[in-house]
Amino acid sequence: MPQTSTPLLLGAHISIAGGPDQAIHRGESIGCTAIQIFTKSNRQWFAKPLTPETVEAFKQAWKQSGIQSVIAHAAYLINLGSSNPETLSKSAEALADELKRCDQLGIPYLVLHPGSAGDTPEDQALQQVAQQLNEVFKATPGNTTILLETMAGQGTNLCYRLEQIASIYQASNYKERLGVCLDTCHVFAAGYDLRTPQTYKAFWEQFNTILGLDLLKAIHINDSKKALGSRADRHEHIGKGAIGLDAFRLLFTDSQLAHIPKVLETPKESLEDDARNMAVIRDLI
Ligand SMILES: [Zn+2]
Ligand SMILES: [Zn+2]
Repeated sequence: MPQTSTPLLLGAHISIAGGPDQAIHRGESIGCTAIQIFTKSNRQWFAKPLTPETVEAFKQAWKQSGIQSVIAHAAYLINLGSSNPETLSKSAEALADELKRCDQLGIPYLVLHPGSAGDTPEDQALQQVAQQLNEVFKATPGNTTILLETMAGQGTNLCYRLEQIASIYQASNYKERLGVCLDTCHVFAAGYDLRTPQTYKAFWEQFNTILGLDLLKAIHINDSKKALGSRADRHEHIGKGAIGLDAFRLLFTDSQLAHIPKVLETPKESLEDDARNMAVIRDLI
């Protein structure tokens, strides 16, 4: 494969304890060139607005760091597929707020779990998600793109098939503000095999046909505790799970993906766990 001059965009999901600027410093301390953060507590629907000082401290820290890409992840509570009117309106409002926070911080991408269908038929729930996203974008002008994440299909989570993401995209009035975040654990658990050169190639051909590679803006790098097609969302350290090192070697030497930021969401008790997984990956390249 041809060598590219793109530097490796690799890092991890990093805590913002003490302020978003602290995530930049933490990420840098273990050699990240890309990080993912929550812009507020992930367990709450809403948070205090960002102060100008917080925003400025973050932007300064980022500018002075070796971190090239920062992406945000939206709260797991948000469910645009919900059939409960109260949950749904809270979800839309919370998502709009997260978009605004990203825009304030200058973060270009916000990763979203598209939603869960509950008792609603999947097709109907997908249309609802698309419609809700239209409303959120309409109400929240800005530069941040929402990345629909590929899901494992646990419970009634939507978007475990690439076609489901495509159906949301097709129904969007704001296509320029939508992209995709691929999670290696999730697609594997959903039944997409990445472990051999043949299956790896076949997967990306499918991705390109159904969604188009241009829509891919971020990758979550996770091994899987559970088997291919298990539809269970259980992240594992790189090389210690059912996906294995060969798939990650293929991914990290794929010049088509060199410009995409790749972040770990592997189990961690401290930053050293991320550093160790990053070292495993660097050894593959
Ligand atoms: Zn996620
Ligand atoms: Zn996951």
